[in-house]
Amino acid sequence: MAECPGIYTLSEMKDGLLARLRVPGGRLSGKDLQMIATASNKYGNGTLDLTNRANLQIRAIKQASAQQFIDQLIKAQLITTDPVHDRLRNITLDPLTGVVDEIYDCSDLVNELDHALSNLSCRAQLSPKFSIVLDGGGPSHISQLPHDFAFIAKQTSEGAITFNVSINNQSTVLNVSPQQLVGKLMGWIEKLCAFYKTENMRIKSLARDHDLKTILQVMEDKPFEQDILYTPKSTLTALKGLCDQIQQNKVAINLSHPTGRLFHFQLIGLAELAQDFGQDEIRLTPWQSVIMPHIDQDHIADIWEKGEALGFLTQEAEQNLTILSCTGSQGCIHGGFETKMKALKIRDAFIDMGFPKPVTIHLSACEKGCATRAKTPYLVMQRRDEDEMRLYINEAPSTKAAGKPVPEEQLIPELKKLI
Ligand code: SF4
Repeated sequence: MAECPGIYTLSEMKDGLLARLRVPGGRLSGKDLQMIATASNKYGNGTLDLTNRANLQIRAIKQASAQQFIDQLIKAQLITTDPVHDRLRNITLDPLTGVVDEIYDCSDLVNELDHALSNLSCRAQLSPKFSIVLDGGGPSHISQLPHDFAFIAKQTSEGAITFNVSINNQSTVLNVSPQQLVGKLMGWIEKLCAFYKTENMRIKSLARDHDLKTILQVMEDKPFEQDILYTPKSTLTALKGLCDQIQQNKVAINLSHPTGRLFHFQLIGLAELAQDFGQDEIRLTPWQSVIMPHIDQDHIADIWEKGEALGFLTQEAEQNLTILSCTGSQGCIHGGFETKMKALKIRDAFIDMGFPKPVTIHLSACEKGCATRAKTPYLVMQRRDEDEMRLYINEAPSTKAAGKPVPEEQLIPELKKLI
């Protein structure tokens, strides 16, 4: 099986080598963005994809300059010098943490966790997909993302803060305090690695052969009568448009791009916006957009205007149109159709229609669903062995439904008709 792409393990794609820059917590400064943009243009083809794990994928790195690319990122302190640690930095934070009403601001836990992972003795045994989510109890319900471990902040009736421990997307009977969280997690991982001795360990693969009670018993050295506390009902809630911050007179603005693919100059433009109007901070989101926090109420119009000039959706489009698209056949060998130009055409068609109602459209060039595995109201999919696109209503890419065949030139008229 090909290793999940990272910075030290580049994946071969149709358009060249692909690097995934893991950004623990998803936060970058303007200077970071400028460094990434410059490196992508110098060592790749200058395009980058926003991912559904709040990371950046840098496309078309040239084999001959791969080492220089790595050196540049190390110099900018964007990656660690330990390739084993670098592949484990899958720490996701609610992109709205610290600026909205929530139970606990988990920002400081990200660095603590990242540092602890770098010292974990069994780190080479973990899968590069091993992921940890920190959910402070804010409105995004970030713990609904697929995870190995998630920690969800709760307040007890006595007012104390505790984190419920979710394993493989199941909320368990375990709880930890904020002070215990990192130490406890490292201890659990060490015990699981020592007991199961599996390579590329993920809870998801352990859970195929072992029930959760047994896994908890290994972690805590004691038997459990009950394992699951409850099955979470909430869904990941993406910010659309803007939200008022708890800090007076400030707002956080979500900027989406219709293709989820950015050119290096767009990243530089974002960096300048964050420096001129915010507090030099950009947050990557798992809904493939960026959030610019700490914007003065007086500068909201500037952000929308300059964002639009950079190719991001307008405020009206942002609130009414969500387009999710995978890499598509231009960059991925598994793809059955080109997705990015179609995303732009769909955006233009909806601008012409004046956005009759809010709509979400997913363009997936195979059943893997790299942009999202969830159901969406409209899914357009064409697998590599199919000779035309199919339109599905309320389906996920893994669907077994037949879908409605739609000739390419009919896609936009068909979507218009339905919407
Ligand atoms: S969904 Fe399929 S075609 Fe699209 S990027 Fe993923 S593997 Fe490639």
